[in-house]
Amino acid sequence: HNDFDVAALRAQFPILHQQVNGQALVYLDNAATTQKPQSVIDAIADYYRCDNANVHRGAHTLSDRATADFEAARNKVVALINAASNRELIWTRGTTEAINLVAQSYAKPILKPGDRIVVSAMEHHANIVPWQMVAAECQADVVPVPVTNDGELDMSAFEGLLDERVKLVAVGHVSNALGTVNPIEDIIRLSHSAGAKVLIDGAQGVPHFEVDVQALDCDFYAFSGHKMYGPTGIGALYGKEALLERMPPYHGGGEMIKTVSFDGTTYNELPFKFEAGTPNIGGAVGLGAAVDFLQSIDRRAMADHEAGLMRYAHSKAESCEGLRRIGCAKQVAGAFSFLLEGTHPADVGMLLDQQGIAVRTGDHCAQPIMKQFGVPGTARASFAVYNTMDEVDRLFAGLEKAKTFLL
Ligand code: PMP
Repeated sequence: HNDFDVAALRAQFPILHQQVNGQALVYLDNAATTQKPQSVIDAIADYYRCDNANVHRGAHTLSDRATADFEAARNKVVALINAASNRELIWTRGTTEAINLVAQSYAKPILKPGDRIVVSAMEHHANIVPWQMVAAECQADVVPVPVTNDGELDMSAFEGLLDERVKLVAVGHVSNALGTVNPIEDIIRLSHSAGAKVLIDGAQGVPHFEVDVQALDCDFYAFSGHKMYGPTGIGALYGKEALLERMPPYHGGGEMIKTVSFDGTTYNELPFKFEAGTPNIGGAVGLGAAVDFLQSIDRRAMADHEAGLMRYAHSKAESCEGLRRIGCAKQVAGAFSFLLEGTHPADVGMLLDQQGIAVRTGDHCAQPIMKQFGVPGTARASFAVYNTMDEVDRLFAGLEKAKTFLL
């Protein structure tokens, strides 16, 4: 895409313009966290410089401004994912907390012994462990959908699993470990026709794709601000209003109540019912600015650019001797996972870092799928909108150099 100006985008990210170990930084750890544009950094600083106060407690001008900033940010996220209303968008610390909220407030009250939560074998631990915790309490089971050797969901096995025991299906939009884009439209449709609700772990989805929760018809969609150019410590849970309305609060405290007395407490309305305590106001404001950043980009051109980086990496991988790709799904986004035969990923990562190239190595919080591939972990390069073809070249030149040390 010629009309996609990566240089202009890169210029908005101050952190990218530095040397690491004597070389221009190549940041390819975007699935772990993305960098932040100046507009996000400014929005957070401006909030603390000008408007900081506690929210929803009125009575003075700064508090009114902080509340307006905070709710404006919520409305930006609502618009980004096309939720039907701001009652459906709950602030959380991130994807992890959003999934725990659904596990504790939606799943726990309804699960009976023998019921099932279906996940996939390629999930992040954040989309496995919260379900195991409630399943253990309810004598329910967490059942993984098998993954093929290409790193794709086995959809016929998935269909075979769907029966009346399945109360919830929880799958990732995009795998952080393999880069696989899952067919979530089909998963949602099939699950619903079997009577199960669906949670989508969108941590790696929102950063790369336009997401429309109403068109998807998912029941819950969880994501993190820091993986979509926003700050850490803020994220969101989208949930259908009718479901959220029926769910009990997750945490108790201030903000989430209407009235408190020792005879009984009544809860606030949505979304505040799920937002106990002083929220991450500055973080929400920063995430709002990150949404503005995303909305300022031609999202289709962005997806094409990122797909181009991935295709280029795959073609370079073919001529990189000893490189084994982990996961070769037809639809991939963001993450490119690999091993160099005869080396340990941690050594590869260290030798790349010495050349200024940041990748992640390890199990990517996805131990079950690493086990299936028979590897302790992988090296993972993951792309964002500001990465360039030159950086892919730097990665592969770096790998050649690493090989001269390791082999
Ligand atoms: N799910 C996926 C697919 C992820 O990639 C991550 C972050 N690596 C998470 C969940 C957890 O996100 P967070 O740590 O921001 O809560």
